Amino acid sequence: MKEKVPGFRPGLAILQVGDRDDSNIYISMKLKAAAEIGISANHVKLPNTATEAEVLRCITTLNEDPAIHGFIVQLPLDTDKPISTEKVTNAVAPEKDVDGLTSVNAGKLSRGDLGDCFIPCTPKGCMELIRQTGIQIAGKKAVVIGRSKIVGAPMHDLLLWSHATVTTCHTKTAALAEEVSKADILVVAAGKPEMVKGEWIKPGAIVIDCGINHIPDNTKPSGKTVVGDVAYSAAKERASYITPVPGGVGPMTVAMLMQSTVESAQRFLEQSQPG
Ligand code: NDP
Repeated sequence: MKEKVPGFRPGLAILQVGDRDDSNIYISMKLKAAAEIGISANHVKLPNTATEAEVLRCITTLNEDPAIHGFIVQLPLDTDKPISTEKVTNAVAPEKDVDGLTSVNAGKLSRGDLGDCFIPCTPKGCMELIRQTGIQIAGKKAVVIGRSKIVGAPMHDLLLWSHATVTTCHTKTAALAEEVSKADILVVAAGKPEMVKGEWIKPGAIVIDCGINHIPDNTKPSGKTVVGDVAYSAAKERASYITPVPGGVGPMTVAMLMQSTVESAQRFLEQSQPG
């Protein structure tokens, strides 16, 4: 891109409302990754007293900034005011929505228009991990635990349009262990520490664990440790491939944000070239 347009840099904006500790950590990882690969990242931080109108005004400014090709709003919002997360995420211009959270991008994904939308970074990273096993997804039985807009629901769509037969489980699912035991590919995004037991896993399954859970641990100086949603030690005895927590899906999420930002910048560049 620099060869085509001297001085050009892909631009990423991260809008944060408030000052959550976990958001600060995730944002610093994203800024570091961007700096490493030459993306110009702009962290815009509004106080937790900002009103919905102020947040929306800030989004309009970033939407209109031609130096920004990818734009995310760090969730959850940390606010004192009644702010609609749905309204805020949908205010991001769909062509800059590298988190894939606008209804426009989510709708395209759910209808299988994968080449024409941004895909949320965590499920996009999960798909990359599954693809890199070399195991064909088409025809497999896949189970997703969780149906959130950011992980579970788009994961379901991605597996479906990769021609797996998909079951999506949630808190009202009866016989969760039985559903899990049928999965050739299992993606867990429930946010419940080690809820998926090793003996539930089908021997040879691919297991992708998105969970990030902090649990008390007296052996650590911080007094806590991070575990996933899958009981890793037991599950790894049965799975053919399994992601650890930390160090599995988390870094992939950051990498996919970088990839989507670069792809978006390429698209902007192509559209701005004459002819
Ligand atoms: P949400 O809380 O938004 O959604 C959790 C989903 O899991 C819901 O659909 C819920 O069902 C379902 N669920 C919760 N408990 C159970 C249960 N006991 N049995 C079956 N289903 C259950 O969480 P997110 O999707 O935002 O995140 C999920 C996990 O992934 C978290 O640990 C989060 O920290 C992690 N995460 C990791 C990222 C990364 O970069 N690695 C990025 C984003 C999230 P229902 O709909 O019925 O309530």
